[in-house]
Amino acid sequence: MQKLADGLHKFHAEVCRTHEDLFRHLARGQRPEALFITCSDSRINPNLITQTQPGDIFIVRNAGNIVPPYGAGNGSEAAAIEFAVAHLEVKHIIICGHTLCGAMRGLLDPSGLDEMPAVKSWLQHAELTRRLVQENYPHIEGEDRLTITVEENVLAQIENLRTHPTVRARLARGELSVYAWVFKIETGRVFQFEHSTGQFGPMGDTVPPSALPEAAVFRRAI
Ligand code: ZN
Repeated sequence: MQKLADGLHKFHAEVCRTHEDLFRHLARGQRPEALFITCSDSRINPNLITQTQPGDIFIVRNAGNIVPPYGAGNGSEAAAIEFAVAHLEVKHIIICGHTLCGAMRGLLDPSGLDEMPAVKSWLQHAELTRRLVQENYPHIEGEDRLTITVEENVLAQIENLRTHPTVRARLARGELSVYAWVFKIETGRVFQFEHSTGQFGPMGDTVPPSALPEAAVFRRAI
């Protein structure tokens, strides 16, 4: 805990002082460009990996970067999405999974979740992911199976995201773009889903962000 307390002090003494204008500006309100939905895992930090500042991205986090379909779940994710899209008018929504995801590991092997009934129940919102992997990738095992599950889950949650009325309405007007990303913890690299190839490929200086088409997207089975 001391590490956190020291950090608070250092932040106030050093960062706030050198970013006075930014924080004064943010005190007047927020205008984030994107809604960033990712996992609660401590190894992924949205602002760090995108090199963005406070005020740049509106972040929703939960176990497994899950978006319950509209009307399902407890409404927390729906409220955050509605606020970001309808009120803040974000122009982009990114769902970003990550390699080595414990939630996705639990989805593949629910026997370890008997002592975590809330997690088990939460992962029901990833049933599409589980079924896609079970039926389309029976021959792939181990860590490769986990990585495919992470990728399929990002695409499955994009489908759930599209059930939210505010998202659908703004997609229909061409005012919103959605993106499927996976952060690779081992290398710090982000991979995005490319509709043209049906696969996730690395992003970089020469690879611009690739928005998903309006219709449902599928990872090409291998
Ligand atoms: Zn995770």
